Amino acid sequence: MKYSVVDANLEGILELLKNSDKASDTWTRRASRHLESHLCDLRSREGYHSIDRYKRAIKDLNRLLEMKTAENRIRLGLGNFEHQDLAPTRSRDLIKAAENPEANPFYPYFKNRLLHLVENDQPSMVGFSLNYLSQALTTFAMIGFLRKEFPAMTLILGGGLVTSWMRRPGWQNPFKGLVDHFVAGPGEGPLLSIMGVRDTGSGEIGNLHCTPCYDPLPVKDYFAPGAILPYASSSGCYWNRCSFCPERAEGNAYVPVAIETMIADLQALVKKIQAGSDPSGRQRLEPGGDEGDRSSSSRCAMVRFCENHSPSYRSGFLFGLETIRMRDVEDRTGIWKPGCARHHAERD
Ligand code: SF4
Repeated sequence: MKYSVVDANLEGILELLKNSDKASDTWTRRASRHLESHLCDLRSREGYHSIDRYKRAIKDLNRLLEMKTAENRIRLGLGNFEHQDLAPTRSRDLIKAAENPEANPFYPYFKNRLLHLVENDQPSMVGFSLNYLSQALTTFAMIGFLRKEFPAMTLILGGGLVTSWMRRPGWQNPFKGLVDHFVAGPGEGPLLSIMGVRDTGSGEIGNLHCTPCYDPLPVKDYFAPGAILPYASSSGCYWNRCSFCPERAEGNAYVPVAIETMIADLQALVKKIQAGSDPSGRQRLEPGGDEGDRSSSSRCAMVRFCENHSPSYRSGFLFGLETIRMRDVEDRTGIWKPGCARHHAERD
């Protein structure tokens, strides 16, 4: 099966940054002049040795994005997309964004990119992963563009934000005619079903475990000092008690990945990206020992993974360490460094 994967977030932002217009003010002109060196700083370890250098790089990139979109009544930054008239929380505004894709500041980028992809690959289906509110208006602008240009194309929408919408009690699809299929939760099984791959009756498609594959993504282009491999060690949350979190409201069951599978996945991923990679399992880690001797937990996986890998691979944000007794990691690997609620377990 032929497919292409595009990180439109990264590509769109880089395109806007590189095509900044001639500015009349000193700050923007200076930011534009230093663009390449700022990008180098954010992609190398050296750029993180000085907090002032790092802050300047971020401020300058945000300045370029802000100036590029000021006329569109949009406030854009590396982590922000705020439209003064359209709210990503209102379905009628998302439909407006889809009806008028030309008004989106990323339009020149996605128009060229999508047309080129369709011409080359002739896809019959296109899927979007929508995870954050800041992505919603642009995602719908891209959906609207494809719907207008290629009315027969099957459009699929999934991702974390869409999962939250769909798992709200009383969810009704307000995007009929725009989106053909919605996917809530992990997409592997539903996507195969939409593509016509039938379950043989054993339920294997629904319970499919896939080792993540980041090969098609431009791993070295991200704004990080090394490759960061996101790894989902579970779906749902074992804790499930924070009042502000949608996990409980969405009724997501906690399903951890088996420890041996997790270790094999991490080893395979690390092998693929050898140079300076930091596998970060940004997931809830199940408590063990005192809380029920659930020894087949991601805690044990992380301890065993750390034991078998050099320090450069052992950097990761581990959430809720008080409850998972990270002393186990310290005792057996010597990489303990206490901090606040979100401890950074790093040796260096
Ligand atoms: S630990 Fe995180 S995922 Fe779990 S309930 Fe709290 S906020 Fe949600």
